[in-house]
Amino acid sequence: MKMNFYNSLTRAKEEITPLEDNRIRLYTCGPTVYNFAHIGNFRAYIFEDILRRVIRFNRIGITQVMNLTDVDDKTIRGAISRGVSLKEFIAEFVQAFFEDLRKLNIEPAEYYPAATDHIAEMIALITKLFDNGLAYKSDDGSVYFSVGKLPGYGKLAHLDREKLRAGARVSQDEYEKESYGDFALWKGWDEDDGEVYWDSPWGRGRPGWHLECSAMAMKYLGETFDMHTGGIDNLFPHHENEIAQAEGATGKPFVKTWMHCAHLQVNGEKMSKSLGNFFTLRELIEKGWSGREIRYVLINGHYRQPLNFTFDALDAARVSLARIDECLDALSAKACGAASGQLPEFADRTEAGFTAAINDDLNVPGALAVVYNLVRESNVAVHADKLSAGEAAALTALFNRFDEVLGVINFERRVDEDIPCAIQALVDERALARSAKNWTESDRLRDELAARGWSVRDSKEGQKVKKI
Ligand code: AMP
Ligand code: ZN
Repeated sequence: MKMNFYNSLTRAKEEITPLEDNRIRLYTCGPTVYNFAHIGNFRAYIFEDILRRVIRFNRIGITQVMNLTDVDDKTIRGAISRGVSLKEFIAEFVQAFFEDLRKLNIEPAEYYPAATDHIAEMIALITKLFDNGLAYKSDDGSVYFSVGKLPGYGKLAHLDREKLRAGARVSQDEYEKESYGDFALWKGWDEDDGEVYWDSPWGRGRPGWHLECSAMAMKYLGETFDMHTGGIDNLFPHHENEIAQAEGATGKPFVKTWMHCAHLQVNGEKMSKSLGNFFTLRELIEKGWSGREIRYVLINGHYRQPLNFTFDALDAARVSLARIDECLDALSAKACGAASGQLPEFADRTEAGFTAAINDDLNVPGALAVVYNLVRESNVAVHADKLSAGEAAALTALFNRFDEVLGVINFERRVDEDIPCAIQALVDERALARSAKNWTESDRLRDELAARGWSVRDSKEGQKVKKI
């Protein structure tokens, strides 16, 4: 089944086929490591995680790069205010970022290059832009990209080139479409930069933010590659400028497909540091929510639609996940030890429905609807005692296959694989008894487990089983 994704560049859904070797090369703009990422940022990283999982679900390989922005106004300000070096300052946030990715079950990318390790590549890129007549030095020691000289400038954001004011410059990294002009490739050193600078043919300074992504993307993925993504706020100016720098240097198309996710919102406004309306992952975990529940909330909306963050949505996630857990507990109790057999008839078309949804521009809500249908039908069949052990095992395998994309089904909940099946069956029965609030049965099963040499402890994430 074909994957059809919406390309922001052509503004149309297109069939996705790898440019080379049955492998998709994907660049994803990563965090600025000056603070803890908030769950709005993680909406973008989870959308990209779903994207890479869907590509692999379709048996296509992936090489993903995610940059770490470790030099910009914010990291420099942070380091100076704490009186430490840039490297020391960012270390804590880099580590926190990777911890958060794990808590959200986000698959690691193949490469996480940091900007400060690629200054030489960035200088080489600026040199090429000078050679091609697209860069110039200004009086303050900075270097700018001349947007009026690149005919294709503005093609991603659909800019009105009539509005371009000759010679106008923007020195900030972020600005509105209305005020676009020549942007900084290299920023000449000034006092605010403290000890942070590199030498270049144009004097002391540091790279502009946009430059790092063009340089590192081409280094790890080649001059032309398959896909590039980010949150919608990255589309302009960041991604437009990345295209300008790369295509201005190589004369080749930079990226075939651009994909952008809409924002996570709070009461209709973008969740952001500057508005102060944000939650970090650690704050939510401290309040008692699990990474699994937060992931569920963040995948449960179409990526091109804004998603409103509420605590009600977290409550609902808890209930939905408990339904999936109960169903899987019942299936595993039924399947105990059996090899996977035929799927029951009611599940014949399920994988096709799931694949059709995710391959249609990553329709995760559609895919979840397919999963819940399967939960419902499986429950009916289990309770009517109509499933064979082989069928139950096949259904479990099908849920696991769906979880390759969703990453919320088996999350933290499946108990250790070393637990013998007969013991696991008792644990699963106990989970069912507990969800039916049958405490007598739950205690009886705990005693039975203890008699067989296994202890069980109840935790927020479910039962933890250990050999005594
Ligand atoms: P930043 O650290 O601000 O450069 O953002 C890192 C990534 O998070 C970028 O891809 C942004 O587009 C994305 N992002 C920031 N805020 C949100 C939000 N509220 N919803 C979705 N994505 C966001
Ligand atoms: Zn970027």
